[in-house]
Amino acid sequence: MSATATLAPEQNIRLAPAHGKLRVLLVEDNPSDIELVSRELRRGGFDLTFEVAQTEQEFVERVRSNLYQVVLADYNLPQWRGMEAVNVLRNENLDIPVILVSGALGDVTAVECIKQGVTDYVLKDRLARLPMAVLSALQEKRLRDERQRAVDDLAKKVEELARSNRELEQFAYVASHDLQEPLRMVAAYTQLLAERYKGKLDEPADKYIHYAVDGAKRMQTLVQDLLVFSRVGRLNSENRDTDCNVAVEIAIANLQVAIRESDTHITHDYLPVVLVNPTQLAQVFQNLIGNAIKFRGPKAPQIQITVEKQPDEWLFSVTDNGIGIAPEYCQGIFVIFKRLHTRTEYPGNGIGLAICRKIIEQYGGRIWVTSQEGVGSTFKFTLPASEAGSRQGQNHDDRR
Ligand code: ADP
Repeated sequence: MSATATLAPEQNIRLAPAHGKLRVLLVEDNPSDIELVSRELRRGGFDLTFEVAQTEQEFVERVRSNLYQVVLADYNLPQWRGMEAVNVLRNENLDIPVILVSGALGDVTAVECIKQGVTDYVLKDRLARLPMAVLSALQEKRLRDERQRAVDDLAKKVEELARSNRELEQFAYVASHDLQEPLRMVAAYTQLLAERYKGKLDEPADKYIHYAVDGAKRMQTLVQDLLVFSRVGRLNSENRDTDCNVAVEIAIANLQVAIRESDTHITHDYLPVVLVNPTQLAQVFQNLIGNAIKFRGPKAPQIQITVEKQPDEWLFSVTDNGIGIAPEYCQGIFVIFKRLHTRTEYPGNGIGLAICRKIIEQYGGRIWVTSQEGVGSTFKFTLPASEAGSRQGQNHDDRR
């Protein structure tokens, strides 16, 4: 048996519906219980429309073709258990609150039903509680919907951001890659002009050619650095257990000339093994050590590289005794092209730290700086501890 009923007009007048329209699916076989339940809901202030299902098949048909705000199900029906409504709704991927309306329901059974997904239960001899139970079920559902919407929105934004980052990276890669060839031509030919015609034209001409050569060279460095920056995310597949001591030695070897000329002294802890791309790790140390030398103070640079084991990661520190950084710039310097000095004061194009950050963040790490102007800076970064690294850390933590 199934039935459709709406509120009788005279009842509408007597009981002003405070909670608005409510569309209910009743899983019930007893006509007098149907009457009692509907009366209680109207009395509770609902403008009620309800339909009735007594078998699983009827229930499935109804939920497939109608939108209900709540299901009120008798626990025991002759042909079906109202409790099964929860499973049907789950299988149909429908989030409709189910309230059990039952003659008698022991505490243990009630708890079990709620565990299985029932929102609430109301005993038939306490039907006055039903409107409140329905109201709070609707409220819970609204909150659930809002939360789900927020989660969906966030997921969409994250996906959009990832896509636009991918596109931007692709663009930076293609642009910097394709710019290299024409730039090589410009640089080569302006240099040729400089060699062939230096002193043969007038003085301004020499100056102009010098500017052109200088500009072309700078642009070449910039484009090459941009290419390095845009390549960072492309080398993930080349991760392997990497000995940080070797990465530091490579960085030191690449900076040999600057180290010698500036009389730099470098010390480092015995460093762990981490799962990264070795070239990129050497690049991080090279950029940080290179900066410590470049931004040195009046004394010969002293650089210390230390490491501490944290629960799931390694915390590296690169400390120098250089010119330091004012606190208000400590965050901004990791942004690409951000520099605090003119090129005549200190050479560079402001990509080094942005590359470091991109490399470190792609491994799930963080990088930041603490500094005191005129005293020095400590660049800190974290990298996840790999299994091999953790074993090694246990064995050699104290070695320097
Ligand atoms: P670049 O070295 O080409 O300027 P970076 O991205 O490596 O670019 O550094 C950005 C800025 O951060 C530098 O211009 C400098 O002002 C500041 N900086 C970086 N490292 C240090 C350091 N060790 N000591 C003081 N300032 C630093």
